[in-house]
Order: sequence, then structure tokens, then C-alpha cells
Amino acid sequence: MRYNYAIIGGGASGLMLAALVDLNKCKATGVIYEATSVLGSKILMSGGGRCNITHDGSIKDFLQAYGEAGKFLRKSLYKHNNLELIRWLEQELPTVSEEGRVFPAGFKASDVLNFLLKKVKSNGWTIQSGCKIARLEEVDADDIIVACGGITYPETGSDGSMLKILAEIGVNIVEPRSALAPIKIKDYPYSQLAGVSVKDVTVSIEGSGKTHRCSGDILFTHNGFSGPAVLNISKYAAPGDRISINYRKRPEELPKRLYKAIEERSRGASGDIRTKALSRMLENDFFTVGSVDSRGMVTHGGVALSEINPATMELRPHLYAIGEVIDADGITGGYNLQMCYSTAATVADTILKARSEQES
Ligand SMILES: Cc1cc2nc3c(=O)[nH]c(=O)nc-3n(C[C@H](O)[C@H](O)[C@H](O)COP(=O)(O)OP(=O)(O)OC[C@H]3O[C@@H](n4cnc5c(N)ncnc54)[C@H](O)[C@@H]3O)c2cc1C
Repeated sequence: MRYNYAIIGGGASGLMLAALVDLNKCKATGVIYEATSVLGSKILMSGGGRCNITHDGSIKDFLQAYGEAGKFLRKSLYKHNNLELIRWLEQELPTVSEEGRVFPAGFKASDVLNFLLKKVKSNGWTIQSGCKIARLEEVDADDIIVACGGITYPETGSDGSMLKILAEIGVNIVEPRSALAPIKIKDYPYSQLAGVSVKDVTVSIEGSGKTHRCSGDILFTHNGFSGPAVLNISKYAAPGDRISINYRKRPEELPKRLYKAIEERSRGASGDIRTKALSRMLENDFFTVGSVDSRGMVTHGGVALSEINPATMELRPHLYAIGEVIDADGITGGYNLQMCYSTAATVADTILKARSEQES
């Protein structure tokens, strides 16, 4: 059967789009092809099962959360902002805010997924799960929307295979890599500190002639660093880069175990504590990146933004890309699901406008 609309990928962005387009009202047909047997696996994982759906505050402040991609996303974020997403959910699902992060009031990611699935079904979409698209020619539809996600957690179905298919038809792809991920350190000296966290430090990554900085909390792990500041900067890290931490604290403000470990490392050959080395390390404790954990919460890279019209999310005539599959990713705090919503709602506008033009 030929459909008017085919969405490839039944994750957050694909489901949001289908939940926004009522096919009954616009007298159209549509299908969602989902590779796995489970729709919305990453929604269920999000926010540790609580689903941090978006962030509070002015949408203007969102742009910087996406780094260089913020400029590209401006149109869709401004047109379909966080307040709109919250209002939409609150038709059925109250939300709450915790330190700026917005969650469903019951703190259950499954409530968000159920909200979407209910709308998708009542909007008349056909769902074909267990159907992995291997070539775009397989899809018999007037318009195709690619919502295939990134490359991390491939067991959820987001395995990056669609990026290869798009590359074959000439779409420019920015090499995808794991982001919002812990960083493993080469010759890590602090494994005994696993579980210790420090508030409000500055982490810097230096590599390929560029330096990136991020401030926030860090967590010591058994093989490196995690915590918001590290997760948020991880997309810039590559093996061999220099990573340094400025603790921005006086010695007595640091956790005792950490201070002791730093003190140990600043000992000279004769065993004496070198005061200058110690104070340098408090401002610039540096290491070499071993690797970035492949199980990042998002993917940095994907369909190059230069290929997409930011006002419509059109990639080629009748071919669109939304959500994590595009080369845009945000910091932690609900920015990634907001990006899924705003890009999906932008395509929904295009579909609804085209349908109403056809009818009149
Ligand atoms: C552990 C974890 C926690 C997270 N927490 C948060 C959070 O609290 N807040 C937040 O904003 N973001 C969070 N994120 C990120 C957010 O979940 C994702 O950015 C978002 O779900 C991406 O949605 P998507 O629809 O673009 O892609 P995905 O959710 O990855 O969905 C893509 C779908 O496409 C399907 N697919 C892929 N290829 C094909 C194909 N060829 N044919 C058919 N189907 C295909 C896949 O099976 C998958 O179901 C988290 C992510 C993880 C992993």
C-alpha cells in the first residue's frame, strides 16, 4: 500500500510527529516503520526512567545548550518551544519542575510513552514494528521522515544504519560519536576515589588545536570521570586529548580523600610535598583521554545540518530528518527530547499546511 507519510523510526521524535498529526482530520494515510518490537525504548530509559522531557526558562537560553547547532535549531525551537511542549503534555499529563528540569508529575517515563502512543493510535497511524528499513526505495510513501536516532545503545534499534543508507544517496554525514558519556583516562591515578564527587569545577579538553571548557559538578569513577560537567564536554574529547580540571577551591574545601590523593601525587622523589606542584594541581590537574564511553546518552554527529532546511527540516524534496539523527545534540537537562519535539513539530507544520492547501 502506498501511504501519504512514512516515518522511519518509532522513537521519541517519530512518535512525537505522529502524535501531532491527526491523519483523520487531514484525510491522509501514514505509517511508522520501527526496526525493533518495542516503540520508544529510549524514552523509557530517559532520565533514569523518570524522563526529563524539557527544561524551564526562556527558550533563548536553550540555544547555547546545543553548542554550534543552536543557530540551526533556533527556528524550530522558537516556533515550538518548551512551554508549548509542556502545555501539550498537560492536556493529559501534569508535569513538575526540579531545579529547572521538567518531568512528568509521576516521574514515570512510561507515562510519557503512553501519552504519545495513545495519540498516535487515535490519530490513525499504522504501526509496523519489527520492520527495519534497509533501503529508502522500500518505502512506498509520498513523504518520508527519517527519525532513526543515533548510534549509542544499538540494542534499542538506534544503530546508525540509516546514516549509511543516507550517505549512499549522497547525503553528507558528520561522523557520529558517543556524547553525554563518561570519559576514561589513560593511566588513571584516582581509581580509589570512585564515587567521590566535587561541585562546580571547570573541565577543559584540549585537542586538534582547540580548547573547550565546561563548568559544573564531576564524579570520579573507577577508570575516569563522569558527572554533568564531564558528560556535557565529552563530545569534544578524543583519545590522546589533554583533559584538565580546575577545582576552583581552597584545599580545605575539597573532599578529604581527594585532597590526600592530590597531595600524594605532588610528592617529589624524596617524598616531600612540593607546595608549588600541589597548588598547580588544584588549578590544573591534567590527564590524557583514554576513550569516551561508547554508551553515551546521545550521539554527536549525524546528518549534516548544511543539508537540512531549518525552517522545514527538509533534507531532499519529500525527505525529512528529525531528532537525534541530525547533527545536533544538547547538554543534559531535557534539551535532547525538546529538540526531538521542536524538529518533529516543524515537520508537522509542513504536513498540515500542505494538506490544508490541497483541500482548499
Ligand atoms: C540512558 C539515556 C538517558 C537519557 N535521558 C534523557 C533525558 O532525561 N532527557 C532528554 O532530553 N534526553 C535524554 N536522553 C536522550 C533522548 O532519549 C534521545 O535523544 C531521544 O530519545 C532520541 O529520539 P529519536 O527518536 O531521535 O531517536 P531514538 O529514540 O534513538 O529512536 C530511533 C528509532 O528508530 C529506529 N530505527 C533505527 N534505524 C531504523 C531503520 N533502518 N528502520 C526502522 N527503524 C529504525 C530505532 O529502532 C529506534 O526505535 C537519554 C538517552 C539515553 C540513552
